[in-house]
Amino acid sequence: MHPKSYYIHTIGCQMNVSDSGRAALSLTALGYVPAPAIEQADLVIVNTCSVRAKAEQKAFSLLGQLAAVKARRPEMVVAVAGCVAQQEGERIRKRAPHVDLVIGTRAIHRLEALLRRLPLHPRPLVDIAMNNPPDAFAAAPPGGDAGAISRFVTIMRGCDNFCAYCVVPSVRGPETSRPPEAILNEIHGLAAAGVREVTLLGQNVNSYGVKEGNCSFAQLLEQVNAIEGLARIRFTTSHPKDLTPELIDSFARLEKLCPHIHLPVQSGSNRILARMNRRYTREHYLDNVAKLRNSCGQIAITSDIIVGFPGETGTDFEATLDLMRQVQFDSVFAFTYSDRPNTPARDLSEKIPEREKRERLQVVLALQESVTGAKNQALVGSVQAVLTEGFSKRPAAGTAQQSSRKQWTGRTPGNKIVHFLSADPSADADSIQPGRLVSVRIERALAHSLWGCLERSDASGLP
Ligand code: SAM
Ligand code: SF4
Repeated sequence: MHPKSYYIHTIGCQMNVSDSGRAALSLTALGYVPAPAIEQADLVIVNTCSVRAKAEQKAFSLLGQLAAVKARRPEMVVAVAGCVAQQEGERIRKRAPHVDLVIGTRAIHRLEALLRRLPLHPRPLVDIAMNNPPDAFAAAPPGGDAGAISRFVTIMRGCDNFCAYCVVPSVRGPETSRPPEAILNEIHGLAAAGVREVTLLGQNVNSYGVKEGNCSFAQLLEQVNAIEGLARIRFTTSHPKDLTPELIDSFARLEKLCPHIHLPVQSGSNRILARMNRRYTREHYLDNVAKLRNSCGQIAITSDIIVGFPGETGTDFEATLDLMRQVQFDSVFAFTYSDRPNTPARDLSEKIPEREKRERLQVVLALQESVTGAKNQALVGSVQAVLTEGFSKRPAAGTAQQSSRKQWTGRTPGNKIVHFLSADPSADADSIQPGRLVSVRIERALAHSLWGCLERSDASGLP
């Protein structure tokens, strides 16, 4: 008998990517194998996002396509996980009657039990319980995806911040932090299995452990920093209102902590920040940026920006552009505001027309492109410590490199993607390996990445 096969389609943030990875490991433990294509899978999991209307539409559009496959192959199990699953629950049946299984945001670790119950249960089987059993954060088996260089480690779930536009508190529940011992155990296991970089995940890592009386996030970082074998630590996301001097200082103190912070500002206008319930001001944000740069001169700062929040005037929008010019972000994710269910902003008047929102978005993206371009250009000629992730035979866009040699890919400490070749082809086999920190001289700035040449097969002496 053939083993059963699965296909997971992930939409949305790193939290979903991490949950999908965990689901894949559970399925592997159950004897499932990856399917070559979604249409051929015995089990399809669509892991969804409902943070923006577009992401939700994407999920329903994929589910629509799966209806036709399911009509041909009724034995295929269609599961919906993540934020849309949590938000819709039983209601999903109306828009997608072919769905067999609805897995809420805190039920993904119950996947095995749900699959066992499914054959005896009327469809859909829905688990959107928000309870938080002790195994809710169950560690992924180390070595489950042998060869991984970088892994996400969930340190918190949910959010208590209630930003006026955001669906996360309602679909991911109240903020809950995982005990530090469990996090450290998981990372020890990952490092022992060869993982070199971890990214600690939470909606607001700055408030890690406050409710539970655990150690602070900065203290947790310090303990992760001491784990042998690990080369790099990253984290996301950081709410500006909770950024502590202790955490800012960590960038100067902890040698494994990468000099990069994702610090979503959302708007540069105090009026809009107040309407968004962000609970900080533009001045506070700029002060944080100055302190971070004081602590760590080369720190990369990235951000999220929402344009067209209800009531955003031309003057408010100008304030956002002005803040972007002042800060000079390394990169930003920019979004047009969309109404989400069960959020206070949905009931605000003075909605901005779609066309205006799209125009504002284009202005933000153009401004950021010029800043990112200049920042990348400034790195040309420098030597960067790059954590090698793998290689591709296809040249990166814009390099037109004709070579039989492997083109390696990795990231700088500031999280910029670097494609590089070794000067000596024979070096490929010995000195460049995935997971190795190497020194790369940056030769060119590309649109979204950097191009360079291997300088040394270690990164000693580099920050
Ligand atoms: N917890 C993080 C934070 O505090 O920024 C990330 C939350 S959310 C998953 C990621 C980003 O989506 C937000 O920073 C915000 O810019 C954007 N976002 C959230 N709700 C939105 C909405 N209703 N419309 C447009 N963008 C939204
Ligand atoms: Fe959403 Fe705000 Fe929580 Fe981030 S901090 S998840 S934007 S409510």
